[in-house]
Amino acid sequence: MRKVVFIISCLSLIILSSCHKKKLTEVVEVPLPAKEEKMTIGSPDEVKAEPGAFELVKLPYKYDGCAPNIDPMTMELHYSRIYLNYTNNLNKALAGAENESEPIEDLLKKLDMTDVELRNNMGGYYNHSLYWEIIGGKGGKPADTLASSIDKTFGSFDNFKKQFTASANKQIGSGWAWLVVNKKGELLITSSNNNDNPIMKHQLISGTPILALDVWEHAYYLNNQNKRGKYIDAFFNVLNWKKVGEKYEALIKK
Ligand code: MN
Repeated sequence: MRKVVFIISCLSLIILSSCHKKKLTEVVEVPLPAKEEKMTIGSPDEVKAEPGAFELVKLPYKYDGCAPNIDPMTMELHYSRIYLNYTNNLNKALAGAENESEPIEDLLKKLDMTDVELRNNMGGYYNHSLYWEIIGGKGGKPADTLASSIDKTFGSFDNFKKQFTASANKQIGSGWAWLVVNKKGELLITSSNNNDNPIMKHQLISGTPILALDVWEHAYYLNNQNKRGKYIDAFFNVLNWKKVGEKYEALIKK
């Protein structure tokens, strides 16, 4: 018995020391960027989805359009890789389906929530499309009808911002924070997991979003590391309230 224990101890020592050696080697092998190596930022106009039912929302600004609040590298990775990927995957999944050409909102309402992959890609496409549309602005405050509705619903703009920020901060792990208009035309703040949104079935609050905040780490990690609060403040600095207001007015007129 003792002999067995001795052999096992020796074996673990050998394994441990070989792991240790491997780790050291890996650290040395990591290539350090040469001084002249520069990351180049492309243009959003160069990015195209593969042919299919849905196209990428065109950015009305360049990747540096939200800098320094949201850094150009994050914008490029987010738009040209993550968003593009959701769009291509959604198009692939819908290709040939009879409802392929229906509006995205109708597809989201009818979506089979047990289809995990389609749910992720359809949500990923819709949520990001809205996110791109409502940033790139100068922050500040909403105006006109939306401003008075926010005051009436939340007491003041500052209260709204506080409640929205709390909702975005409270979301555990990846997800989204929303300002939505429900069937009665009321404004509500909510959040969702992963790429779910308030148009889909089985959500805490149902409604049509007019404002979307991506709180996945890929949306802020490069510039803010794990400090989501800093990113939420930055997001408010680049919000395009005019666009959000237009979306609100179009919905309440319906
Ligand atoms: Mn994202």
